[in-house]
Amino acid sequence: MFTTKELELFKSQNTPFYYYNMELLEQTLQSLTKASQKYNYHVHYAFKANTNHEILELIQSYDLGADCVSGNEVLKAKATNFPSSKIAFAGVGKSDDEINIGLDNDIFCFNCESLPEMEVINELAEKKGKIAPIALRINPNVNAKTHHYITTGLEENKFGINRWELEEVLNKLKVYKNLKLIGLHFHIGSQITDLSAFKSLCLRVNEVQQWFYSHHIIVDHINVGGGLGIGYENPDSNSIPDFESFFDLFNEILELRPKQELHFELGRAVTAQCGSLISKVLYVKKGIKTNFAIVDAGMTELIRPALYQAYHKVENITTDELEIDKYDVVGPICESSDCFGKALYLPITKRGDLVAIRSTGAYGEVLSSAYNLRSKAESIYSSNLNI
Ligand SMILES: *Cc1c(COP(=O)(O)O)cnc(C)c1O
Repeated sequence: MFTTKELELFKSQNTPFYYYNMELLEQTLQSLTKASQKYNYHVHYAFKANTNHEILELIQSYDLGADCVSGNEVLKAKATNFPSSKIAFAGVGKSDDEINIGLDNDIFCFNCESLPEMEVINELAEKKGKIAPIALRINPNVNAKTHHYITTGLEENKFGINRWELEEVLNKLKVYKNLKLIGLHFHIGSQITDLSAFKSLCLRVNEVQQWFYSHHIIVDHINVGGGLGIGYENPDSNSIPDFESFFDLFNEILELRPKQELHFELGRAVTAQCGSLISKVLYVKKGIKTNFAIVDAGMTELIRPALYQAYHKVENITTDELEIDKYDVVGPICESSDCFGKALYLPITKRGDLVAIRSTGAYGEVLSSAYNLRSKAESIYSSNLNI
């Protein structure tokens, strides 16, 4: 739902563009920090969801940490004033240059994903005369019950260290003098709406902790990753995720040792609902069973439907037609997967109408490409509204 002011702004812009409702982002951050502070949990924002400067600045002002998955994200975190002491660096393929960026910036923690990575971080840290703080990213073998492309915590996935390797990891840690084990890290996937997956994760973390305890190790930090899902079906009635139930569950089931601190890495749940991709209808073409509404945004601006068969709500936001018809809403790109929704019921739609593709504030703009030599879509913020 957009206000008259917003619609006026939309009509004056070149399409397609990303629109961000900064008030909603702010409300989301308030709700998130209120819920996490109840238990003194640390929340790191997963940069890869959206790295627009305006968005990062607002998130930083709420004192969240940064969860980075590339050297450039670490540099961007520093440039947006996230303190080094709150920057975690994950990723299964960190290059030497990227590890050096982390070391030079004295980040909070490297989330280490394999034995060979531990060896390299140790070597590079030794060259700099530094001790690298690491958390072991452990593959918990928990099914996130989400799309298989965004499931990361199964043994068949490339992420993390498997449990049968832990004995060797401990032996190596005795040898690698420039590593300091400070934490255990887990991340099971993304867009998880069934909280029972997080319950399974908690139970698995308890087991893993028990294993470490039996080897006389208690780490200072437990990091359970991100993945909290959002309501793509009803962005207006579910505009802010239920952070309270999420943290309550961890408080109830996860067994922390005295003084252990718990960390989360949320991306989608923070930024998804504040963004919409606004696009203009170029042509309406009659098909056999449906009509095609051909819009000026495509998979180059939003690849999630083509990549993960993701659902985004599509709305015609400028028509006053009451009658409805059936449409495939498709983009202009030369790929059949360039489709935002099939057989959608929309008000009678015509050339020049604006459509909003909702809940696109996470993994939307960041994944855009120049395929077909397309121009980069602009980003517009509600703060430009001069209310
Ligand atoms: C992507 C990612 C996240 C964030 O996932 P969301 O589903 O956006 O919350 C957190 N941790 C790691 C390691 C990730 O790769």
